[in-house]
Amino acid sequence: GTLPRWDRVEHLVVDAHARYRDLAAGAVADYIPVLAAADPALFGVSVAVVDGEMHEAGDTQVEFSVQSISKAFVYALVCEAYGHDAVRERVGVNNTGLPFNSVMAVELNDGHPMNPMVNAGALATTAMMPGATPAEQWENVRTGLSRFAGRALELDGVVYRSESETNIRNRAIARLLQSYGRIETDPLEVVDVYTRQCALRVTARDLAVMGATLADGGVNPVTGERVVSAQVCRDTLAVLASTGLYERSGEWLFEIGLPAKSGVAGGIVAVAPGKGGIGTFSPPLDPAGNSVRGQRATAYLSRALGLNLFASS
Ligand code: GLN
Repeated sequence: GTLPRWDRVEHLVVDAHARYRDLAAGAVADYIPVLAAADPALFGVSVAVVDGEMHEAGDTQVEFSVQSISKAFVYALVCEAYGHDAVRERVGVNNTGLPFNSVMAVELNDGHPMNPMVNAGALATTAMMPGATPAEQWENVRTGLSRFAGRALELDGVVYRSESETNIRNRAIARLLQSYGRIETDPLEVVDVYTRQCALRVTARDLAVMGATLADGGVNPVTGERVVSAQVCRDTLAVLASTGLYERSGEWLFEIGLPAKSGVAGGIVAVAPGKGGIGTFSPPLDPAGNSVRGQRATAYLSRALGLNLFASS
């Protein structure tokens, strides 16, 4: 087997949830107004193994907006369409060391967005999505992420509208990228597709399956469908290892040893290559925008299941 026995994994997932359920730290995001209404008590932990087996505890069926976690999967879809070199040249793979919505990071790097997991790089990546019109690009994002999840994901219209009314900063970043020739289509249309992609509704269980698809060389272990190539998974996981938790990516890798991606609605997906995906959901965040309970539960599971990529035994 690729992981410990079924009953042991099941026990550890239940334990990870029980340990951190009462941890009251962090704050729910409020810069997107509707996210401030999230229930801070919600907490779900889900593991999907590459053989399709699932383990779950807590609120793993509650839907929330995927937010920045979408960046990882849109990046994979764009790599699948255009290849490693084109995406590296245009979007980059290095950490900015700055918050996800930094304008300064773009200015400090001569207009290069640096990596696809910060907003600038994610906007540049979404602009590259295949599709003749923004509506087609959005449909390709939605169906692409749905293939990773193994079910049809839908837009949360309330979250989409709330963010659309307040995403002045993302519009500014898109305009800035346009000024450097890094976005060649209408920047406000790119922001709209990006805002929709962030408002797709997922569950902790979906995140685990999406992560397990990256762990499984691009084949969704639940549906059996190939979504992207094994090479694209490798490229995506390398980028997540260096940038998935923004300016805290180094600390995350040091503590947990797995590529991962967080979102401001409280989701985190972590990937153990060849083994499986861990999906967690809990709205209270640390100052960088990463779920507090999700980080702790993932750290616990990484240790208990022996998933740290840098451990020799
Ligand atoms: N939609 C959010 C934004 O663009 C996503 C940010 C996040 O999850 N870190 O600000």
